[in-house]
Amino acid sequence: MQTEFFAVCRHRLSIDGEGVTTLVALFGCPLHCKYCINKKFLEDKRLSRLITPQKLLDEVMINNIYFLATHGGITFGGGEPMLHSDFIAEFCKIKPKEWNICVETSLNVPKNHFTTLLPYINEYIVDIKDMNSDIYKSYTGKNNRQVKDNLQYLIDNNLTDRITVRLPISLNLIPITT
Ligand code: SF4
Repeated sequence: MQTEFFAVCRHRLSIDGEGVTTLVALFGCPLHCKYCINKKFLEDKRLSRLITPQKLLDEVMINNIYFLATHGGITFGGGEPMLHSDFIAEFCKIKPKEWNICVETSLNVPKNHFTTLLPYINEYIVDIKDMNSDIYKSYTGKNNRQVKDNLQYLIDNNLTDRITVRLPISLNLIPITT
């Protein structure tokens, strides 16, 4: 199994999961946020490369000692990492069991991806954007029904204490055009 990713960022602390983390940015996103800072990487496949779960493990193993000492681990971001749920599940089967696994997700993907990863994810950082459907659509180009469904799914599975909800804040707000 292979998947596309565009970056690995090491030695992150307290910004995307418990302890010291390595961010693995996976390719592709179903949304088109007006304020996206990763557009270039998400749309140009030439900037991504293919990797297997074992190869990724080999790359991130260098920080094993930090993960063990701080209860840290891997944060999958992107893009939308949940689109790569099968790949993440395979990675989780071979990683050291002490590593914390976090996903940064918009939740705007089919529920089956969350079902696949339910046994493996320790933390969900949810980029909820806005609960108002009209505002959400004006910024992302999509409606947020699936977001609400998936958030309820995680809550129904008693994962409330593993979810951090984040909101984008900007001092230079982009005007809403309808
Ligand atoms: S969800 Fe994130 S990565 Fe995807 S388009 Fe929006 S800001 Fe960019």
